[in-house]
Amino acid sequence: MLSRRSLIGTGVAALAFATRSFAARARHDLILRGGRVIDPSRGLDAVGDVAVTEGRIAAVAPQIAAEAEETLDARGKLVVPGLIDIHTHATTAPDGPSLCLADGVTGWIDAGSQGADHIDQAIAIARSAPQQARVMINIGRAGIIGAGDTMNLALADVQAARSAIMRHRDFIVGVKARLSRNVCGDHDYEVLRRAQEVATPFGLPVMIHMGDTFSPMSKLAGLLKRRDIVTHLFSPPPHAIIDDTGNILPEVLAARKRGVWFDLGNGRLGHVRWDTALRILGDGFLPDTISTDWTPEGQKAGIINMPNIMSSMLSLGIPLAQVVAWSTVNPAKIFDVFNGRGTLAVGAPADITVLEMRTGNFEFVDAFKNIRPGNRKLFASATVLGGKWLRPQRRLQQ
Ligand SMILES: [Zn+2]
Repeated sequence: MLSRRSLIGTGVAALAFATRSFAARARHDLILRGGRVIDPSRGLDAVGDVAVTEGRIAAVAPQIAAEAEETLDARGKLVVPGLIDIHTHATTAPDGPSLCLADGVTGWIDAGSQGADHIDQAIAIARSAPQQARVMINIGRAGIIGAGDTMNLALADVQAARSAIMRHRDFIVGVKARLSRNVCGDHDYEVLRRAQEVATPFGLPVMIHMGDTFSPMSKLAGLLKRRDIVTHLFSPPPHAIIDDTGNILPEVLAARKRGVWFDLGNGRLGHVRWDTALRILGDGFLPDTISTDWTPEGQKAGIINMPNIMSSMLSLGIPLAQVVAWSTVNPAKIFDVFNGRGTLAVGAPADITVLEMRTGNFEFVDAFKNIRPGNRKLFASATVLGGKWLRPQRRLQQ
């Protein structure tokens, strides 16, 4: 039986140990201090500190007293979970992944740049990317081509796509079907049917590129299953997700109800018109995610980067926290590779984007050269990937 004295002794020793281990833990690798921390995954929007240890979020609090190896002064900046872009063509340039990273993107999906014939090239780039990165395979076996991915229907080759997926189960996370008339002519429905034939046995989603399709969305939406994705939701008529009187099509509402996601996919080529976007938003039909449809050319034009696309949504009157949710926690739900990301919850991988919000007179241009004025614009200021502060920011932005 233990004496009272030995009990006390044990207690003191235990306390001393606890203090030591607390002290060891209290020194963090990195603390981002004094930023406006916006984490929609937890409804957080407050000025505070974020501590990172061993690649994970260690603490989020108004003030973290502990010391750190490195301190990032985030005062006057926004601190948000690492941005996730589910519609890019980041594999079309060797430096695509690092260019996206410089814009604060810590996770991306390449949406169908390549089909079965050249999928290995796309996967090699995704595999070597510093961020979490995966690809969707284009149902057109030659990928995105000038003549139209599946203008020749024989290119929508189910067997070729299936065997490519079987070779790359770990990196192919969906099937992309581009359905505009200049991509697949009048056989959009058959191309989508084949995309489903490829995806379904693997339990993968299909992402459709809508806008200026031969068939109305009311018909195409019927082929979409739970967890499929519609990109370019703000595409103007013909065959938008709204009818001529501006109401959301019932088939589109039904698709959302059964779990189909709707994504922005900004791009440069006809996919967004502000009046259509305002009409859709006015109907209360909000995107689940916003994405860039990033290409090296679009990036050079200065339009296509996540902070700019987020800013354009602010100019449409969307609250900041909502825009951040569309770029972080929501995309993280769509693809398993981002599970546990898109959040600053303690224990989550420490992917963090620091944004600078500048005020002034800015113009946001849609794909039809319509200008939307805005008085706030976001710029990537710093990126933390897997707990590592990447600096200096690779590209100084205007
Ligand atoms: Zn695209």
